[in-house]
Amino acid sequence: MNVQSILIKEPGNFNQENLRQLFDLAEHNLPSLLKYANQIRKEQVGDEVHLRGIIEFSNYCSCHCLYCGLRAENRKISRYRLTNQEIFQSVQTAVNYGLKTIVLQSGEDRFYQPEDIARLIEFIKKHFDVAITLSVGEHPHQSYQIWRNAGADRYLLKHETADPILYQKLRPGKNLQDRIECLLDLKDLGYQIGSGNMVGLPGQTLTSLIDDVLLMKKLNVEMAGIGPFLPHPDTPLVGSSAGSLTETLKILAITRIILPTIHLPATTAISTVNDDARRLALESGANVIMPNFTPLTVRDQYVIYPQKIDIIEDPEQSVNKLKKLLKEMNRTISMSYGHAVKIKTYSLTKKEVYHGFGSQ
Ligand code: SF4
Repeated sequence: MNVQSILIKEPGNFNQENLRQLFDLAEHNLPSLLKYANQIRKEQVGDEVHLRGIIEFSNYCSCHCLYCGLRAENRKISRYRLTNQEIFQSVQTAVNYGLKTIVLQSGEDRFYQPEDIARLIEFIKKHFDVAITLSVGEHPHQSYQIWRNAGADRYLLKHETADPILYQKLRPGKNLQDRIECLLDLKDLGYQIGSGNMVGLPGQTLTSLIDDVLLMKKLNVEMAGIGPFLPHPDTPLVGSSAGSLTETLKILAITRIILPTIHLPATTAISTVNDDARRLALESGANVIMPNFTPLTVRDQYVIYPQKIDIIEDPEQSVNKLKKLLKEMNRTISMSYGHAVKIKTYSLTKKEVYHGFGSQ
C-alpha cells in the first residue's frame, strides 16, 4: 500500500483509521513517506522558505506546565520584560535582514494590559512593513479582539497534546477544551491561526498523536509548530526521555500530507536535536524557519526546553547559516509576508471540533 492509496479525496473524511494506516506506512517505509511529504510541499507551497523573526519579549508566566522552563515555579531563571525600545530595536534588526513577519512571544504574563500589547502592535505596524504573529497564550475574547483591531495578523497557540487527560496532567489548572475555544475565537476574529504539538511526551500514545493531527485538520489551522518533547532540568519532567527526531519528522510529514498548504516550521526544538535536523525537517514538509531576534543579553533566560540552538547565535550568524543551508538545498528565502495559502472550503462547527477532543 502507498500513501496515495490511503488518502481519500474529501479532506473532511480523515479519521483515526486513515491516519493509522499512514502511521503504519511510516513504520515500514519512513523514507517514502518523508519524500512524499516533501513532494506535496513543493507542489502546494513551492520552494520558498518563510523566515519569521521571533522576539521573546517577556519570560514571566503565570502557568505551571510541567514541561516548561518558564513555568511560574521555576525560580532558577531571571525574569525579564523587554522595554518597548528594545522590542522596536529587535524588529528593526529583523527588518534589516529582510524579514516580513515578526512573532511577538511571551509567557502568559498578566503584567500587560491588553491595551499595552495593542499599542505595541500599532507602533510596529505603523513603522515597519511586516506581518505580526502573536504568541502570548490564552486570553479573553475581548483581548484577542483588541489585538486584531490593532493589526495582529496571526496567532500561534499550540495545543501541545490532543489527549484531554494528558493535557490536564501536563498543564495543571488548564484544559484542552478552553484551548480549542481560544483557537476557534481567534479564527472567528479573522486571525490566521497556528497550533501544534510536542512529540514524545511522557504518557503520549499513538492514538493521541493521531488525534493531534486530526485536531489540526478539524480546526483547519494555517500553521503548525511541531517539535520533540525535550525534558528541561528545572521542571518536574526532568529524567523523562526526550522525543525522537524520527518520530517528529514522521508527524511533520503526515501533517503536510493531511494539510497540504499549511505553513510548517522546521522548529527550533527540532533543530536543537542535532546539526542536520533542520535540513531533514525542510526535506520532510517544512517551509518555515523562525530565527531568533531576542536580544542576546536575555536570550538564555527564555528556555522553554534546554539547549536551544539559537541561544548563542547572533542574528547575522543565524541568518547567514540559514542562507547557506537553503542555497545548498536549492530553496529560496521568501520576500513575501508569507500569509496563509488556503483552500477555504472546509471548516467544522464548534460542536464537530469538540467531538472527541476535550469533551470530558
Ligand atoms: S508552556 Fe507557555 S504557558 Fe506553559 S509555562 Fe511555558 S510559557 Fe507558560
